[in-house]
Amino acid sequence: VEKVLYKSTRGGESNVSSAQAILKGIAEDGGLFVPDAIPLLSEKLEDIINLDYKQLAYVIMSKFFTDFTESELKECIEGAYNDKFDCEEIAPVKKAGKEFYLELYHGPTLAFKDMALTILPYLLKTAVKKQKLDKEVVILTATSGDTGKAALEGFTDVEGIKIIVFFPRDGVSEVQKKQMTTHTGSNTFVVGIRGNFDDAQNGVKEIFNDESFLKLMEENNYIFSSANSINIGRLIPQVVYYFYAYAQLCRAGEICLGEKINFVVPTGNFGNILAAYLAKEMGLPINKLVCASNENKVLFDFMNSGVYDRRREFVTTISPSMDILISSNLERLLFFISGNNANLVKELMSSLNQEGSYGILDSMKNELKDFYGAYSSEVETKEGIYQVYDNDDYLIDTHTAVAYAAYNKYHDNTGDELKSVIVSTASPYKFTYSVMTSLDEKYKEFDDFELIKKMSKFTGGKVPEAIKEIEKKPVIHKTVCDKEEMGTTVKKILKIKE
Ligand SMILES: *Cc1c(COP(=O)(O)O)cnc(C)c1O
Repeated sequence: VEKVLYKSTRGGESNVSSAQAILKGIAEDGGLFVPDAIPLLSEKLEDIINLDYKQLAYVIMSKFFTDFTESELKECIEGAYNDKFDCEEIAPVKKAGKEFYLELYHGPTLAFKDMALTILPYLLKTAVKKQKLDKEVVILTATSGDTGKAALEGFTDVEGIKIIVFFPRDGVSEVQKKQMTTHTGSNTFVVGIRGNFDDAQNGVKEIFNDESFLKLMEENNYIFSSANSINIGRLIPQVVYYFYAYAQLCRAGEICLGEKINFVVPTGNFGNILAAYLAKEMGLPINKLVCASNENKVLFDFMNSGVYDRRREFVTTISPSMDILISSNLERLLFFISGNNANLVKELMSSLNQEGSYGILDSMKNELKDFYGAYSSEVETKEGIYQVYDNDDYLIDTHTAVAYAAYNKYHDNTGDELKSVIVSTASPYKFTYSVMTSLDEKYKEFDDFELIKKMSKFTGGKVPEAIKEIEKKPVIHKTVCDKEEMGTTVKKILKIKE
């Protein structure tokens, strides 16, 4: 196996092992870690299509985490992808109408974040051991709703690790909020902020880059890490299910080996779709990656114009996990499509920081050809839920519906008839109010929790274990702070004195 090392997208760090990169989360210069070369799938496709999820996970991840031994990595995989998931396939592909849906919500918190956050704690623990670190790790995480609960679930009671989650107090669904604020575990802390997801994410990044804070941490025997998709320990595990989806279509006889397909990805922080891009670069036969946005369509505009401009109104939508104006992982794509030009990436990021926008070179625009940007309005999202249920008897959540609507636009505009997989990122049970009222206005008089039972009755499906009785659980985490107070709040939680 070729050894893979990591470097910062902004050029300040290189020759970092994957264990170090996972521990650090973000590079010291504020950049994100990327592999110095994207490994290729050396196996033939026919040799991997019959593997189960865990076997395939090993094949893919071992190409990126080359400093982990075989037994270390296999232990991580075994610990993650087991009966925490409510189906044996872990990530099944379902057919509804002409489309395929890759269901990534069968994990413990009912959203796709579980695909990576079930394994990240194992990767991190192993990395601590490998680096012989004798400090306590503090995971700081900003969440648009789903990462928070998935990270809490994964890190609860893991020795030597504390986790602090910041969520936008008024920017998540009722079920999401309740999932987080009722979470038990002595090493877990949840804080609502008065602000949106971008504020939370920026606040966390600022803390990571605050040298005096880092020094204080060091003196108190702590070290920060991240559970956001800026961490390669989040990103790489997400590459696996694109291969796995392709394998399922082959096995079902829906496509021939080598046939190209499209993936449609509901996108926020650009993590999920970047994993798809890595899969394509590794050699998976992918035609287009349809980047689906909601009304916060900064990525749609970028794909079409080459200009990224966050100076716009932040819209709160019914797909809250995609309500983001600063898509962190786009920085990694910029690095790849500029031919690994760290100086340029650094300039673009500083322009984004200072002016709120940047434009890319024509040569880079050309490299965006793997992507197709499309977005869905709120009305189109609701119509999508209705249509798919009405036509195909298949219930999708609001985020998946954004992707469905985006796919329809792609299909209509291009006439591309290749098989397409819509990436289904959350269970409809997480967004019951928006989903049920899309089906019928009469549900307007009920709240999210009342609608959990009604959804189950209406569809004949079972209420997932993860949210049964959730409304009765006591709220444990009540801390709320301003976005400027995030640093002080962290110090209070860690009992650090200045
Ligand atoms: C996080 C999330 C997304 C967006 O994924 P990114 O990797 O941030 O682009 C989409 N849908 C759901 C349900 C999510 O939780």
